[in-house]
Amino acid sequence: MTTIKLHNTRTRTKEDFVPIDSDNVRMYVCGPTVYDRAHLGNARPVVVFDTLYRLLRHVYGADQVTYVRNFTDVDDKINATALARKQAGAEGSLEQLVQERSDETIGWYLHDMGALGALEPNAMPRATEYIAQMIEMIDGLIAKGHAYAAEGHVLFAVDSWKSGYGKLSGRSVDDMIAGARVEVAPYKKNPMDFVLWKPSTDELPGWDSPWGRGRPGWHIECSAMSYELLGASFDIHGGGNDLMFPHHENEIAQSCCAHPKGEFARVWLHNEMLQVEGKKMSKSLGNFFTVHDLLEQGVPGEVIRFVFLQTHYRKPMDWTEKKAREAEATLRKWRALTAGVEPAASAAPSVIEALADDLNTAGAIAELHRLAADGDAAALLASAQVLGLLGNDMGAWAEAMDLSTFAARLAEARAEAMQSKDFSEVDRLKSVFVAAGLEVRMSKEGVELVPAAGFDASKLEDV
Ligand SMILES: [Zn+2]
Repeated sequence: MTTIKLHNTRTRTKEDFVPIDSDNVRMYVCGPTVYDRAHLGNARPVVVFDTLYRLLRHVYGADQVTYVRNFTDVDDKINATALARKQAGAEGSLEQLVQERSDETIGWYLHDMGALGALEPNAMPRATEYIAQMIEMIDGLIAKGHAYAAEGHVLFAVDSWKSGYGKLSGRSVDDMIAGARVEVAPYKKNPMDFVLWKPSTDELPGWDSPWGRGRPGWHIECSAMSYELLGASFDIHGGGNDLMFPHHENEIAQSCCAHPKGEFARVWLHNEMLQVEGKKMSKSLGNFFTVHDLLEQGVPGEVIRFVFLQTHYRKPMDWTEKKAREAEATLRKWRALTAGVEPAASAAPSVIEALADDLNTAGAIAELHRLAADGDAAALLASAQVLGLLGNDMGAWAEAMDLSTFAARLAEARAEAMQSKDFSEVDRLKSVFVAAGLEVRMSKEGVELVPAAGFDASKLEDV
């Protein structure tokens, strides 16, 4: 069996991955807060962990992997949108409007991530469905002396677990206090203590609890849901590296103190962030866009996925238009090469080897280029599909059309022109093909037409 190596943030080394139970490999990834469309940066962890999920399924078996990714549907931004709708005259209670906003956003999210070829995780729990489990966990933390109630809030007492807190991100509690912009509230015993439960006003969704009507803090939901769905010890926990502190640090503190016999997550994987044309994506720079925006502009989801996979997940990823154009041209070529071909029985070992080396997707793509250059269409197809590329469901944009009749027309015109010395028809055909986005290759052997980026078949209608 292939040995997968993964870089574990917790130990800062690349380790052989040994699952707790190879019949049920378990992975948890922090999902989105569902208040709006996912921007391009939000999609990076989705593609990274989808590729890892696919690799785990390839190595251990499709039914031997459990992938859980949550939806955070308790959030002030969702509440604000719902409240604004209510004030604008929308019908229904605030709770219903909150739910409506979450449902709408989850629908968009699943559609957009599906367009990127992301498989749906085995479970996608919503925070609002696990409030009782969160309350139970918080109650247990208080009973063990790791948390305390104050003024309607419940806080995790960082001092109760000073030995463990900060290990993942490699900081001490004292450093964190010195460096962090922490909210200093009068009811906190230590400024680093973080919220497990907070009170809700009448305009906010809330649930009854031993500490009054309120709602959970963000961190506790991942601890409660991963425990319910994956147990006290599981294999892999993933997310963007912007979540390492405080979110993941707080998840670890809660879970390890609530279930001291468990290990929580053994391997921690963090992906680097995404930039656009070399700059941080931000609304003020005008380079902020959603996955939906790109899809609407006609950038195929498969192209977005391909661009993402060209960069290793632990390196910053730079989205550029140039990369998107090149990716499109490559995928068109590969789709034309593999059209009507049955995939090989298994992926090329070199591709799996690259992926198994800490998810070296760039190396795997280099291998795909090699297979394409060798003309090994069956192996290319089987291998690309492990990376979520060249699937039947994603290729509508590149529908390979039969260009041979057009190539024959041009070859014929050339043959006639050789006799008549009148090349006007040859030139006319060439310019129509180029305008349609085809690369025209003419040699002694014949004529070849290759779709390039931006190929538009409708422009061939008047030929
Ligand atoms: Zn989380």
